[in-house]
Amino acid sequence: MDQKVVTRFAPSPTGNLHSGSYRTAIFAYLFARQNRGTFVLRIEDTDKARSTVEYENNILDSLKWLGLEHDIFVRQSENNLRHKEVLEKMIADGHAYISKEEAKDGSGVIKEIVRFKNPNIDVTFHDEIKGDVTMHTKDLGDFVIAKNINEPLFHLAVVVDDFDEGITHVIRGEDHVSNTPRQILIQRAIGAPTPVYAHLPLVLGLDKQKLSKRKGALAMTEYRDLGYLPEALLNMVAMVGWNPGTEQELFSKDELVAAFKLNQVQKSPAVFNPEKLNWFNREYIKKLSSDEQKNLIKKFMPEKLSGISDEMLSKLVPVITERLNYFGELFKMADEGEFDYCISTPQIDLAKLPGKGNELANAKLHLEKVLGILKNIDEKNWNAVTVKESLWSYAEEAGKGNVLWPMRFALSGRDKSPDPFTLADILGREETIVRIEKAVSLIS
Ligand code: GLU
Repeated sequence: MDQKVVTRFAPSPTGNLHSGSYRTAIFAYLFARQNRGTFVLRIEDTDKARSTVEYENNILDSLKWLGLEHDIFVRQSENNLRHKEVLEKMIADGHAYISKEEAKDGSGVIKEIVRFKNPNIDVTFHDEIKGDVTMHTKDLGDFVIAKNINEPLFHLAVVVDDFDEGITHVIRGEDHVSNTPRQILIQRAIGAPTPVYAHLPLVLGLDKQKLSKRKGALAMTEYRDLGYLPEALLNMVAMVGWNPGTEQELFSKDELVAAFKLNQVQKSPAVFNPEKLNWFNREYIKKLSSDEQKNLIKKFMPEKLSGISDEMLSKLVPVITERLNYFGELFKMADEGEFDYCISTPQIDLAKLPGKGNELANAKLHLEKVLGILKNIDEKNWNAVTVKESLWSYAEEAGKGNVLWPMRFALSGRDKSPDPFTLADILGREETIVRIEKAVSLIS
């Protein structure tokens, strides 16, 4: 291809967009980058009543967060004069005409709308995903292209802007397929080339219904605020309706740029599965350094845990991250008391301390033995590995469950918690010994 590729993402800032829209942005971006082309971001704000700066900013924030930097930024409303100029020329050339019509609201007001003079022909266009598409345009009639000479409507604005921006590939949602013949007719009337089209299949929720805000689809910034990683969203959303045909699932942005194939996008609707997103997110959490993980934990730190020392937090990092789908889950975990053992000495339920089918007296015996062993490890050698190595042969001999359950329970007071060696490491030598001694004296 000699011509430089130019793609665009052309959202209307009339709401916060969900992943379905961002998939369009991702594909348009990847295609531009892999062809060393240009990626245009065009905010289609001609619907003044519904467009807001907040929604526009939300789109900009989301794209930035995902790492989809644009080369050119355009706000459609700012091209209004140019749209008008084209409209006037179309009228002068006989491709459009002013039609005086009564307003549909029953007010009896007469409006001067502009209609396109439809040549009523078959329009065929090539779609990279659907193949060749032919549609007859007769049913469209002389469709409206401007509310009045000053207010061009969607089709005209899109065609003029695509033309002026030199868009070579229009990558957009399937909901626009039926608009394409109208837009091609306008292109021909104004002498604009027809770009290559790629209409992307719908993105569905798990209920197989079109993804929508009303059905709980989240805005991209909501994922950000929940503590998802942008790499995970980018990777996951890129794979809704596309895959490279190999087993590989994890792709960095550069790998996506290299691997993505527009004509490999599936024709049938694709499902956005939040569980799959969680899987991607966990994979990307694992790829972070422990410092990066720690910083994210700090960012999402529940008030309840804010008193934890930095040293303890460092030890908690792997414990926390292996349990998380996304960092915002920390709040729920903290609310459910999952990290209470870090904040205060737990209340011990003696009925549970020995573990299922075991006697309190035995638990006491094992805990005393454990204490004896632990006291032989000095402060500077204290860590999960040395604690485990010191206790292991006794635990094997006496039965791991018999020894390790009471120890773990004495330290955490919870049915579920990290293993006792990790707990001993998190709590430190002194606190570990104090808690086990406390459990022993409670039994006595
Ligand atoms: N502004 C349109 C939308 O938000 C997209 C138009 C286009 O891609 O041609 O759906």
